[in-house]
Amino acid sequence: SEDARDRGLAFYHPARDSYSADRLTLASDLRHALKNDRLALYLQPKLLLKTGEVVGLEALIRWPDHKNPVPADEIIALAEQTGLIKPLTRWVLEQSLAVRSRLLEQGYTLGLSVNISPNNLREKDFPLYVQRLMSSYHSHHGAITLEVTETSMMQDPVNSLAALKSLHATGIPLSIDDFGSGYSSLSYIKQLPASEIKIDRSLVTDLATEAGDRVIVKTTIDMCHSLGYSVVAEGVEKQETLDLLEQMGCDMIQGYFLTPPLPFDDMTAWLDERARQ
Ligand code: C2E
Ligand code: CA
Ligand code: CA
Ligand code: CA
Repeated sequence: SEDARDRGLAFYHPARDSYSADRLTLASDLRHALKNDRLALYLQPKLLLKTGEVVGLEALIRWPDHKNPVPADEIIALAEQTGLIKPLTRWVLEQSLAVRSRLLEQGYTLGLSVNISPNNLREKDFPLYVQRLMSSYHSHHGAITLEVTETSMMQDPVNSLAALKSLHATGIPLSIDDFGSGYSSLSYIKQLPASEIKIDRSLVTDLATEAGDRVIVKTTIDMCHSLGYSVVAEGVEKQETLDLLEQMGCDMIQGYFLTPPLPFDDMTAWLDERARQ
């Protein structure tokens, strides 16, 4: 969808006219789509630089058959505003476990990363739900990683930390998304029960040409390693960026340079193709 946005296609932006009739229609369309399994997950690989292996896939929400393309962040904003985020996140988690099982059947053992919203952290029963879900799928720890954005945690740092701790206690790995795009303090970051940090693509995409970004990214990688986190760089679009990140000791990358997010069948075709090389 970001491709489409770059090409200047018209998008519907529900967040910009919160009370319009259009928005109410869109909200009821979304409710309907969710109920009838008309949403989809696209998958984007996460590559371990040391070995060149794909080690995981991030699940990203799509609404394929809607009359205008609605970008993922707008789907999520709409779901958050209309109380649909709880069932939507649960749908995404269940689908992701199903995707993981289908991948296993095809010989791929890959972790799935799922984005969660600040509202999910406010649900008292979310950790219990996650724990039950994992055991009902007989999924081992590491099958699913939950990604939560730095910015969303900072809306309510104390309660977010408590919620992350109870999620962490269920054994599920946590990842701090969009790191470097917000204003969290380092003293907050060091307390997080996360295993992974994802450096925001705004710091990564122009790495080859922006000396300042290189300083920030290198320093972030070193700091995160010292704190015990593994580091993913998102938004890698060029070989040069990959090479720089490798020199800097970054652990993993994601980005259009490998592939944009793909639907399941295209993703397995992409994985098969790589395995043949
Ligand atoms: P995110 O979690 O930071 O996801 C990465 C976004 O960057 C995705 O956009 C992906 O398509 C895009 N991307 C990946 N590689 C590149 C690249 O090399 N260059 C550029 N320019 N973009 C790249 P997408 O799929 O439109 O998702 C946007 C945001 O919507 C996500 O950002 C995430 O915050 C949210 N989102 C998506 N799916 C879900 C979901 O199931 N639940 C929740 N709560 N949020 C979701
Ligand atoms: Ca993410
Ligand atoms: Ca991100
Ligand atoms: Ca983002």
